[in-house]
Amino acid sequence: MKQKEFTLSQTDFSTLNLHPALLKNLSSLDYKVMTPIQSQSLPSILEGKDVIAQGQTGSGKTAAFGLGLLQKLNVKWFRIQSLILCPTRELADQVAKEIRRLGRSIHNIKVLILCGGMPLGPQIGSLEHGAHIIVGTPGRIEDHLAKGTLKLDNVNLLILDEADRMLEMGFQSALDAIIDQIPKKRQTLMFSATFPKSIQSIAQQIMRQPEIIEVASQHDNSTIQQHLFKANDNAHRMTVIRLILQNYHPESSVIFCNTKLETQEVADKLAEHGFSVLALHGDLEQRERDQTLVLFSNKSVSVLVATDVASRGLDIDSLDMVINYHIARDIEVHTHRIGRTGRAGSKGMACTLYTEKEQYKLAKLEDYLGHSITAEELPSSNVLRLPVETPPMATLQIDGGKKQKLRPGDILGALTGENGITGKQVGKIQMFPNKAYAAVSRDVAHYALKKLAEGKLKGRSFRVRRL
Ligand code: AMP
Repeated sequence: MKQKEFTLSQTDFSTLNLHPALLKNLSSLDYKVMTPIQSQSLPSILEGKDVIAQGQTGSGKTAAFGLGLLQKLNVKWFRIQSLILCPTRELADQVAKEIRRLGRSIHNIKVLILCGGMPLGPQIGSLEHGAHIIVGTPGRIEDHLAKGTLKLDNVNLLILDEADRMLEMGFQSALDAIIDQIPKKRQTLMFSATFPKSIQSIAQQIMRQPEIIEVASQHDNSTIQQHLFKANDNAHRMTVIRLILQNYHPESSVIFCNTKLETQEVADKLAEHGFSVLALHGDLEQRERDQTLVLFSNKSVSVLVATDVASRGLDIDSLDMVINYHIARDIEVHTHRIGRTGRAGSKGMACTLYTEKEQYKLAKLEDYLGHSITAEELPSSNVLRLPVETPPMATLQIDGGKKQKLRPGDILGALTGENGITGKQVGKIQMFPNKAYAAVSRDVAHYALKKLAEGKLKGRSFRVRRL
């Protein structure tokens, strides 16, 4: 009988140059093969390179950076050597748990969790006892740095987990303050589900020639599907829009119109039909514009009807759908509009409406694309009988902001503190000079409002209302 040949696959952990104790522990945890994010990022991480990786929960990202961290750690040197920043307490708890599991074969590793919403005193006590690894949320870490209870002079590995979520929750300035206190000579790893411009710019500032790892299956989704629908006449356009929205249920969509007047008309009509919708055009005051963008970007409003000019500079990265109420006058405008969907690894859909009279614009578009596009059949009118979906989030407005020295971490802490809602139920937190907006899951909005209104922020009461 022919002897069976054993070859090591590229995804076997033993192909990595890991401490034998770590490898042995992995097999005792029943981690047999590497997940894609692990096999793609670990070789570079272990070489000491800076790495940006696209990874969602469930991808095995924690073990990817956790193994890199444990391999690099010098347990005999009892100093804080690694800092892991996470957007929420739940994630920090999970990460610390996984690191402890992965490192259980190394004796005396000390992992300390520093999160908001927990009393400061015990954390200060633990810090006095020392640690190798800190896992925490940016607001609280910044607090400890300001108090002088935490020093990061010996950190040689910085990890940003769910970096996009941290920015979304308003932690940019806390991150800046923290990173400023960490030696420049270090390794930096960043994990993020999406790559908006804000993430790219932070990476440019804090990383050295990072290697970028995108897991293929997620990348495949990022193409934009273009759909063309024919409306019988102008009056029919509204029905077509409703058919599209009711058939595909985008969580966030923008409808582009050519004029201010049209924008308002379309928004008003959709509102009459029960949609959660706002108009964005040049006639809005700054305050109204800010509020509209807050509500839309934090998913408390699902549909935004906008002119091209008003939408300029909109930095919304997870649009599921863009609808062109008319074909744009310019091809460049058209491509710019549809390019706003399908970014950052998320699926995108672009729908364009046209009538017989606009056939000539269609021909121009086909010329530009180099292929013909044919109109699709409209979704069945049965969908109009379905209830209109409500957006997933609701917004709480707090009558205090940066000028009152409020920070996102204070609001997050108050929401998720004792008997609070979970970090997962908190969405974007956005700060303005005298106002702050926190998105919370719609189903707990009432409770969250009560908690914020009855509790204190920075020792003060603020007026809070639901928008
Ligand atoms: P994460 O994406 O880091 O939240 O990990 C998702 C889950 O997968 C966790 O429960 C890990 O313990 C587990 N896990 C991570 N890597 C592996 C692996 N290579 N084999 C089996 N399970 C894994």
